[in-house]
Amino acid sequence: MSAVRIIAHIPCGDTVLVAEARGMREGLPYFGWNEAPAGLYTATQLREAGLSAAGLDPRALLVFRHRKPYARQTVAELFAVADAVERPVPSQAQQVSRLRNLQYAMRARRTCVDCAEEKDYCVPTSTRQCWSCLEIEMSNDVEVAA
Ligand SMILES: [Zn+2]
Repeated sequence: MSAVRIIAHIPCGDTVLVAEARGMREGLPYFGWNEAPAGLYTATQLREAGLSAAGLDPRALLVFRHRKPYARQTVAELFAVADAVERPVPSQAQQVSRLRNLQYAMRARRTCVDCAEEKDYCVPTSTRQCWSCLEIEMSNDVEVAA
């Protein structure tokens, strides 16, 4: 990591944020973890604040690695919170439709592909079979192998 830093001028609403960035990447100043100036949010942070990143251009990037050794470098776009608008509240129809889709998806996760029975637990995603069907199949495998 080079020690050369740049002074970034980031438009944010009616003001300009001046901050020391690690450099430029994809034409945007980038910051490390905990280095981004207040006033810049990731899309997730905007959503948590009840705001939307829709239609916004990223003003900077957040570049960091996870603690886990296998995790690669993550790049997140940073948006000016002053430019964000409130997230629209979903309509009654949208809420009903989301709930219906969720119930449909959960029914699919509880339904065994072999006996087509809906269980009171989610079947494993690897086999999509309920425990009894999986047990039958495993005992058949043992007989074949013997
Ligand atoms: Zn089954």
